[in-house]
Amino acid sequence: MGLKIKGIMSQKKGEKTCGKCGSAMKRHKGKTLDGVEYIYFKCHECGEKLVDIGQLREFVQNYRTMKSYNVKVSKWGRSLGIRIPKEIASKHGLGDGMEVRVLPEDNGFRIIAEKPTEE
Ligand SMILES: [Zn+2]
Repeated sequence: MGLKIKGIMSQKKGEKTCGKCGSAMKRHKGKTLDGVEYIYFKCHECGEKLVDIGQLREFVQNYRTMKSYNVKVSKWGRSLGIRIPKEIASKHGLGDGMEVRVLPEDNGFRIIAEKPTEE
């Protein structure tokens, strides 16, 4: 991405001073190659760019939201089934009949795809 992450600065939100040349930095909106938006500061004098910790958190959040999927729950015998999107299945090497682990968590559950062990 070409952005540098630097120490937390003490200025008010929206006001930053360039660490390289001391000029004022302005907020900009950027987009990663996969379309996730983020905010960063850019110096108009020397072109230095940086993101602060709040911007970084926001970016991670946006990224997670974008990389999540809405899937439908459907009845499957006495249990319920969900469809795993093809993209996720192939990324984790999942195939028909394979077992995964379901881990309950506070606000939902996590599905762990375990790589087949060679014995
Ligand atoms: Zn600068």
